[in-house]
This record gives sequence, C-alpha cells and structure tokens, in this order.
Amino acid sequence: MSEPALDYLAHLRNAGFDDAFFSVPLAEGRTARGGAGPVEPKQIDYDTYFRKRIETLRAEGHYRIFATLERKASAFPRAFDHRLGTEVTVWCSNDYLGMGQHPVVLDAVHAAIDRLGAGAGGTRNISGTTPYHVLLEQELAALHEKPAALVFTSGYVSNEASLGTLARHLPNCIVYSDALNHASMIEGIRNSRAEKHLFRHNDPEDLERLLSRADPSRPKLVAFESVYSMDGDIAPIAELCDVAERFNALTYLDEVHGVGLYGPHGGGIAERDRVTHRVNIIQGTLAKAFGLMGGYIAASHEIIDFVRSFAPGFIFTTSLSPAIAAGAIASIRHVKSASQLRAKVEQHSSKLKSGLAAAGLPVMPSSSHIVPVIVGDARLCRAAADVLLRLHGIYVQPIIYPTVRRGEARLRFTPTPQHSDQDIENLIKALSDVWLRFSLPHASTRQT
Ligand code: PLP
Repeated sequence: MSEPALDYLAHLRNAGFDDAFFSVPLAEGRTARGGAGPVEPKQIDYDTYFRKRIETLRAEGHYRIFATLERKASAFPRAFDHRLGTEVTVWCSNDYLGMGQHPVVLDAVHAAIDRLGAGAGGTRNISGTTPYHVLLEQELAALHEKPAALVFTSGYVSNEASLGTLARHLPNCIVYSDALNHASMIEGIRNSRAEKHLFRHNDPEDLERLLSRADPSRPKLVAFESVYSMDGDIAPIAELCDVAERFNALTYLDEVHGVGLYGPHGGGIAERDRVTHRVNIIQGTLAKAFGLMGGYIAASHEIIDFVRSFAPGFIFTTSLSPAIAAGAIASIRHVKSASQLRAKVEQHSSKLKSGLAAAGLPVMPSSSHIVPVIVGDARLCRAAADVLLRLHGIYVQPIIYPTVRRGEARLRFTPTPQHSDQDIENLIKALSDVWLRFSLPHASTRQT
C-alpha cells in the first residue's frame, strides 16, 4: 500500500474509526496512531480459551446438545429424530396449541408466499412494511384491547428493544423487575442503563416496599411476566397493578406464555383476570401458542409510536416475512374463538399433573398448563432425558442452567390438544421407569 494511503488510514484511525470499520489492516510496521514503532502482537490463544470454557460447561453437565427433529406437519406431536433415525413423541414444544401445523395457518402462509414472495425485503421503514404487517398490528391491538401494537422479529427482541428504549429515554427512570424475569427483559433493562431493583418473585408487598423508598417525582417502570414458564406459576397481576398505580408507575407485562391459552379470546392471563386495561404495555410472542415466530407489544398510541421511533431493535432490522405475518393473522383469528383448544390443554395438563402425582413423581406445583418435574442435578436430568428418548421414544429437552438456577435442573412437559390420553399414560409409565432406573427421589422422599 502506498505511503499516502497508509497515512490516510492512520488519519481515519486517529479520527476514531475503529477496527470494525476497516476490511484492510494497516501494513506491517505502521501503527494506528503513527510513529510509536512496531507493535508486538500479543500471544493470546483464543481457541484454547473458548475450548476450556466449554470443557467446564461439559463437566458440569450444562453443555447443550440440540436434537435434530423433523416435525410431521399432519401428525403433531410426532416428529422424526434424525440422530436416532426413529419417530418420537414431542413433549416439550412451545407450539402449545399445535397452530404451527394448522391448515388455516398453512393456507395463509402459502397464499402470502404466492402473492408477495418469501422475504420482506427491507426494514419497516425502507420497503419492508406490507399490508400484512399493518393488519397484524391491528389484530394484536384488538386482541389485547389496546389502541395500537408493534411487531418485532421475535419475542426476545420485543422485550429487549421495548424495555431498553422506554427505560433509557424516560429521564431518571427506575425499573422494578420481578426476580425471575426472562433473559430478554433482563437484557433490555440492563441495556437501558436505568437504575434497577429486583422485587421478590410474584410479591406485591416487596414491590411496595421498594417503590415506597423512591423519589415520588422519578418515572418508574414495573416489569413482570404472567406465566413463568419454568415453574408454571402465575403472577398476581391485579395486586401488582394496585401497587404500581399507587406509585404512578408504568406496568410492563410479558404474556409470552399466556397469549392464546388464557382468557375468553386468548388475550392471556390479563384478559382472564379482567385487568388488561390496568396494564400499560402488554408484550407477547407469535412463536408459541400462535405457532409461528415474531414478537410484539400492545399499548397506547403514544407508547407504540415512541418505541417505533426510538428502538434500535425495531428500526435497524429487516421486518418479519410477510408470509409469517399472514400466518399470524390467520392464527390469531382462529385462536380467538377456539376455546375448545384452550379447554383441551387445560384438561390434558390436569390429567398429566394428577397422574404424575399419583405415581409419586416430583411434579412441581404449577398453576398453569406447564408441567415441570424436578430432577436437580443437571447430569442426571440429561441422562433421564436420554433414557426417555432412547427407550421410550419420548422427547423432552432437559432444562438446565442458565435457563434455571444450578441444582434445579428439570424436565418440563407441555401437553397440547394433540397429545392423546394414551400419550399421557405412556409418559407417566416411562417416567416411572426412568425414576426407578436412576433411583431418583420420589415426591415424598425428596429432600428440599
Ligand atoms: N419472554 C419469555 C418469558 C420467554 O419465555 C421467551 C422465550 O421463551 C421470550 C420472551 C422470547 O420469545 P421468543 O421465543 O418469541 O423470542
């Protein structure tokens, strides 16, 4: 490279353009700041560092191995396990209502692909807003009885972007976050750099204690979930809103595991408990009960317009595929009136919980459709899941750290309307067998 070119590169560096800006390195012997002489390269063995960290993870039993599954579109919850080469019954899908395979969804997706093609082709601002995106946002606003809604590429992104943006821009905001909030909420709050306080899980009194200490003139945001998906417990939304209202705090509710499943129209626990109007921002996903992918928030026009205008996670990314948006519209419309699907989930999860309890298995006291069975040790949990898969054709992914705390590994079952009574009986028998093989503690003998 010529001297002038090198000089210009050095000039750019001095002006603050960092390595990520350059696809060309400076030639050997030249330094970024010019003149300090050659820089000795440091001998850092990056791969050794990463390998060692992974080895530790493996030794703890926390290393993740993905099952390669081919879901059978017309036969959910059956799937083909590519590693085993056999059919298995899936017991841990978050496609809670089987909508990912429903003909109304598949037809809508096919039709949209035929009309608009596969991808959105741009961000929402730059050519990526289709009529499906607009309609989907109207549908979601109506579902949650809010004036407006905003769609993101995932539930994770919607939490991270919305909480991050609101808490960062409200001047001097304090965030109150439930101690068991999802990683996406934690990241959003962290990225906002706002002052944060954790309140004890599902504990309005603790929230009140913390709020009462704060300067009344500062803006406040209380963030929590409706259904906590790893324990299956449900937030006391009305009581949390009582407290938040007394202190003039905004409320932000993650309904990711509630939408579609609870409430007369599938509007979530807030709809079931008739408190939708008391929650300022409702966040949800299109990836679980609605069977596709994408996330959203529903709130006032002002809040939605603000997040739309200021959230980098919304602005700087290609919008959801129009086919996914079309499928989501069809799914929401169907699920709104499909109370028989909600009833089936409830029926199947009650049957599974009582069957497991009758067999003496340590089913956790979940008050939702989620059925967690505690194992404790991560390696044992993984071994139990392996035996379930290989000997019984039952696929359940072990839930381990960091999704749950260390020492609280568990098997988490999600009964759907499509699981049969026979599937439930098979699962209870198979689990009993696994508990015997590994001498795992039964409910009455478990040390807490
Ligand atoms: N919020 C909660 C409580 C979740 O459990 C999850 C994912 O499991 C998300 C948000 C993220 O949703 P998505 O899978 O649509 O990104």
